[in-house]
Order: sequence, then structure tokens, then C-alpha cells
Amino acid sequence: MSDCLFCRIVRGELPSDKVFENESLLAFRDINPIAPVHILVIPKKHLTSLAAAGREDGALLGEMLLVLRDLAEKNGVSESGYRVVTNIGADGAQQVNHLHFHLLGGRKLQARPE
Ligand code: AMP
Repeated sequence: MSDCLFCRIVRGELPSDKVFENESLLAFRDINPIAPVHILVIPKKHLTSLAAAGREDGALLGEMLLVLRDLAEKNGVSESGYRVVTNIGADGAQQVNHLHFHLLGGRKLQARPE
């Protein structure tokens, strides 16, 4: 069994502030938010990052984007705007090695994130 942090959240071994769940995805609030709306959307299946996804994961990735869009609407940032980000590997400053997209909104973000 994986001791990956987000796999443990998926299995319910660690708590999370869950905002959405279906058969294949889980979304929860970031524990250290950098914006008023900061939600992470993850696949329940362990993928280390976007770099580890295969063609067979295309539907899963598409579903993640649509869930992010829906969560932006539910959290009231659709009109004001928001950002969707995924960090990959060391130079991408990825801290948790389980694929996740950040949904960031509720404040004016910098035009050119580093
Ligand atoms: P990244 O740099 O893209 O890998 O970001 C990982 C994110 O996971 C960071 O924004 C962390 O604040 C967040 N995070 C780490 N542990 C937890 C946790 N137990 N629950 C919710 N978010 C977490």
C-alpha cells in the first residue's frame, strides 16, 4: 500500500476538508492556502504527476478540468476569474508526488507567475 500523502487522504487515513468526491476524483481545500479559494483536485488513482499520465488517462484528465471549472463556479470565482496550476517535478516545485491541480481564486493573482 502506498504511503503517499494524498493516497492516504483518498483512503481516509488522513483528514481533509473535502469539497467534492466521485468514483475517480477527490477535491479538498489546501491546508496552507495562498488565496481565499485554494482547492486541490486529485485522481484517486496514484499518478506521480502529469508526466506519469498516459493516453489511457485522457478521460480522467479531462474530467479533472471540468471538475475544476465546476468548483470555480460553486466557490464563486467564475466571474472574477481564477487560475488552474499543476506543478511537475523538482524544477516545477512539486512538493507532493501525487498528481494534483490547484484551483486558485478570490484575489488578484500576478499576471506572470514565476
Ligand atoms: P505542490 O507544490 O504542487 O506539490 O503542492 C502541494 C500542496 O499540497 C501544497 O499547496 C500544500 O499546502 C498542500 N498540502 C500538503 N499537505 C496537505 C494536506 N494534508 N491537506 C491539504 N493540502 C495539503
